[in-house]
Amino acid sequence: MLRFLLILAMLAALPAAAKDKPANELFGAAQLPAQLPPEPIGFYSRGCMAGGVALPPDGAHWQAMRLSRNRQWGLPILVDFLQNLARDAAAQDGWPGLLVGDMAQPRGGPMLSGHASHQTGLDADIWLTPMPNRRLSAREREDISAVPVVEPGPHEVHDEIWTPAHGRLIRRAALDGRVERIFVAPGIKKKLCETAGSDRGWLKKVRPYYGHNYHFHVRLSCPPGAPCRAQDPPPAGDGCGDNLDYWFSAEPYKPAPKPAKPAPPVTLADLPKACRTVLEADAQPGTRTMQDAFAASRGAAAPPAAADPISDLIGRQP
Ligand SMILES: [Zn+2]
Repeated sequence: MLRFLLILAMLAALPAAAKDKPANELFGAAQLPAQLPPEPIGFYSRGCMAGGVALPPDGAHWQAMRLSRNRQWGLPILVDFLQNLARDAAAQDGWPGLLVGDMAQPRGGPMLSGHASHQTGLDADIWLTPMPNRRLSAREREDISAVPVVEPGPHEVHDEIWTPAHGRLIRRAALDGRVERIFVAPGIKKKLCETAGSDRGWLKKVRPYYGHNYHFHVRLSCPPGAPCRAQDPPPAGDGCGDNLDYWFSAEPYKPAPKPAKPAPPVTLADLPKACRTVLEADAQPGTRTMQDAFAASRGAAAPPAAADPISDLIGRQP
């Protein structure tokens, strides 16, 4: 009886430990997507993703960067959006191809480094550096730096780096009905405002934000009926003129006052309940990490599929 109770206590203790573990450690350890129907769960900055799919490392008009991070996962709607944008921008905007940065982790969720959002498979970062006309090696995809198009000080775009094609690419992304918002550095928003002419409806989706001077961030809307939470729509108007004054003042760049107590890390219990199911699900058969997919596409034998490292972390029972 005692032995039975001990075993019972152990079984109960494991999931409890996982519950208290920072959620970014749990989701950061998941190398492959959950075998579940694709769904965004929760909010962009407090959620996860069921049934993620990978953007292939290469397409005719895109290349995935920083493959070692294994973050080019998203909902099928996001992968489809990126493939459409890559094709159409190459055909019509003079933008040769997309260098795609972080999307989501295989199961979404909070990350160990960078990004408050990118958790539900609906966000993607696209470099403001055009794709070169050759396939980059795995090493180059780790090492090459994107070129910032905005000056750190006055926050204006570098006119020798910015081209009208940059503007056309962002406009095309904003015109896509699936897109909810696009985040860019304030100087880029200003430049777009100055060059947009009379066609301005799309500008409202382009929001000025910190960083975002070497990439822009595309956020898709929470699809109707999906278990995600929509963001308030962007304010009416094009967001140009006086609306931008704040971003060109000292105010947004003042160091934030230190909180008395640092916020405790987000745990699994802080995320929607369905995120636990996402973590516990088996890996989708036939999927590989971005690095393995890239190696396989180059004819190199991909290493055998890794053992499921998150079982240990979440205390899944066999
Ligand atoms: Zn981003």
